[in-house]
Amino acid sequence: MAHEQTPQPVRGMNDVLPGDIALWHRLEDTARALFSAYGYQELRAPIVERTELFKRSIGEFTDIVEKEMYTFTDRSGDSLTLRPEGTAGIVRAMITNGLLHNQKSRVWLRGPMFRHERPQKGRFRQFHQIDVEAFGYAGPDIDAELIMMSARLWKALGISRLQLNLNSLGTPESRRLYRDKLVAYFSAHRNRLDEDSLRRLEGNPMRILDSKNPDMQDIVAGAPLLTEHLDPESAAHFSGLRRHLDAVGIEYVVNPRLVRGLDYYSRTVFEWITTELGSQDAVCSGGRYDGLVTHLGGDATPAIGWALGEERIVALMQAQGIAASGGTPDVYLVVVGERAEARGLSLAEQLRDVVPGIRIETNAGGGSFKSQLKRADKSGARWALVVGDGEAERGVAGLKSLRTEAPQVEVALDRLGQELTTRLAERATA
Ligand code: ATP
Ligand code: MG
Repeated sequence: MAHEQTPQPVRGMNDVLPGDIALWHRLEDTARALFSAYGYQELRAPIVERTELFKRSIGEFTDIVEKEMYTFTDRSGDSLTLRPEGTAGIVRAMITNGLLHNQKSRVWLRGPMFRHERPQKGRFRQFHQIDVEAFGYAGPDIDAELIMMSARLWKALGISRLQLNLNSLGTPESRRLYRDKLVAYFSAHRNRLDEDSLRRLEGNPMRILDSKNPDMQDIVAGAPLLTEHLDPESAAHFSGLRRHLDAVGIEYVVNPRLVRGLDYYSRTVFEWITTELGSQDAVCSGGRYDGLVTHLGGDATPAIGWALGEERIVALMQAQGIAASGGTPDVYLVVVGERAEARGLSLAEQLRDVVPGIRIETNAGGGSFKSQLKRADKSGARWALVVGDGEAERGVAGLKSLRTEAPQVEVALDRLGQELTTRLAERATA
């Protein structure tokens, strides 16, 4: 009989399989604990927002808005978009829920993002970010603390050799003067600009600096530097940030060519990069966006945040040989025979009641003693708990180590909880 055809997954959108999930959990659990320790609380925003939100916040002359958004008209005729990044939705949520009135807040968000890019290693159409944002803080101390928090996250994950790039974009006013210089420079080299850059020359010339086109790199390298045009307050903010980082020994490189992809940044921008993942080298990027909240109709509120790409962090953890344990049971319950099968599930439930945190995998669906032991071994469990009809009759269970040569022992069912508690405690302290 012919098989039905299986619909294929969408290009650039990946399944994360159970066998790979342990590193994701390690990343997410570590991040969650760390954020909470720094006073950040989780915010969950919808994956879909009005298209206008992204156009206004990310900016018209960006790769994302020009060609990467998943935009559709819903059944009510509204233009909606799958979020390409997290900040816009967070800011929208902070405003529409009235969370910005004379308040400071620190929030984080995790979830899938969608960009119609060319899929390749480290670049997907659905990917996942962890976002952190602080609202209501104008000074460089919060910029520094956010960076310290990211550095601590790498350390907690066991990741090494990341490089921090740092720059200041000044204020929109100080950028105006710089913008004129850029336009003059790029206009003089008009014949060497690609199509995207020509369009941006009119709309947003700073975006040319962010071009990924290899043929553009020479011309970009010769462009005038923004850092030479910083206003005095931005310069003071930048040196304040650097002092805080120096004080805790966080190393960085000032990279005057670092301009972030989104239009709304002001002053601090930064990026953590790696040389170990090929050309997709940015694992975490962020910056200050003091003008965005008013731009979206909220009360003037300074803000700063960063986002990491989970796929790239997980790939880096793999590249650096970082392991995560997870998912293997402590005990696999083998039940053979009618009486034993009848007792099996309730025995497992009793153990779950009395042994805190025990991980028991039951052998559901029957099978011979031999085939059940095989499954027990494959499960990765430390011990098999064996109950046959004979054991069930006598009120005992066999406890067999699956990882050592220790002989199987018989334990009375009413002592089993105590026995397993002791063994698990030994393992925890070993
Ligand atoms: P890139 O320069 O690699 O395109 P970006 O500047 O567009 O990155 P941001 O919008 O700042 O990235 O997103 C923050 C992080 O999300 C990036 O540092 C990266 O780790 C990750 N990221 C961005 N786009 C993708 C993607 N298409 N697939 C996987 N991860 C991504
Ligand atoms: Mg990008």
